[in-house]
Amino acid sequence: MLLPHVRIVLVGTSHPGNIGAAARAMKNMGLTSLHLADPQAPFPSPEASARASGADDVLERASVHRGLGEALAGCGYALGLSARLRSLPWPVVEPREAAVRALQKAQAAPVALVFGREKSGLSNDELARCQALVHIPANPDYSSLNLAMAVQIMTYELRLASRESLPESTAREDFPPATLEDMEHFYNHLESAMVGAGFLNPDNPRHLMRRLRRLYNRAQPDQNELSILRGILSALAPDAWPPRGRESGGPAR
Ligand code: SAH
Repeated sequence: MLLPHVRIVLVGTSHPGNIGAAARAMKNMGLTSLHLADPQAPFPSPEASARASGADDVLERASVHRGLGEALAGCGYALGLSARLRSLPWPVVEPREAAVRALQKAQAAPVALVFGREKSGLSNDELARCQALVHIPANPDYSSLNLAMAVQIMTYELRLASRESLPESTAREDFPPATLEDMEHFYNHLESAMVGAGFLNPDNPRHLMRRLRRLYNRAQPDQNELSILRGILSALAPDAWPPRGRESGGPAR
């Protein structure tokens, strides 16, 4: 059963009632792993428990994190739910296809489905940490769903997908996929090396890091390939790691 390996991540939620309703939606569909990044109101909360009505166990086990990076720890793949499409084109999938992909990826490592704030959704930096974007095809003139409703649609699709047999993976995998944390360290290392070499101007980064993220997302390096890339960076730019003035795992660009 792969559903327990799919994590629902709620970022910056303002209304505790939405957290409770999301927990209920999850439990109805057989998901249990709820992660809250920077909830805006104190958690646990009586309002969340009231809206969970019977899914209190999901709420009790929910973990609270500082920042999306921490909420994604241990995951190998993340999909960001977004009501809007963004300026730099990012791969977009519909919920049905996203659910099949999430379960396929969950065979190797936990997968995160990331939901944004009620008012402003996910920031571009947060979406950049997700390998693809999921858009629920709603009325284009009124496309923003209530947060817990979006969770319900996505978890329902996951449940349907979990009843089908997944397409056989044809990949021959000799090493496990790189984790999202390892990828963040790599991007920070790469950015620091490019700044050090004068290739990337930190005052005018344009979309360079995001374009490179898109490229590596297509390649989906495994742990061995990533350590080769890190080794090349260390050999070519010995001073680039740890990056100066910024903790590793700093903001995504
Ligand atoms: N006004 C915000 C929408 C916030 S709705 C915006 O324009 O981005 C809260 C969250 O629910 C969103 O961040 C997203 O994760 C999810 N959501 C709402 N409607 C969605 C849709 N049509 N497709 C995918 N996700 C959606």
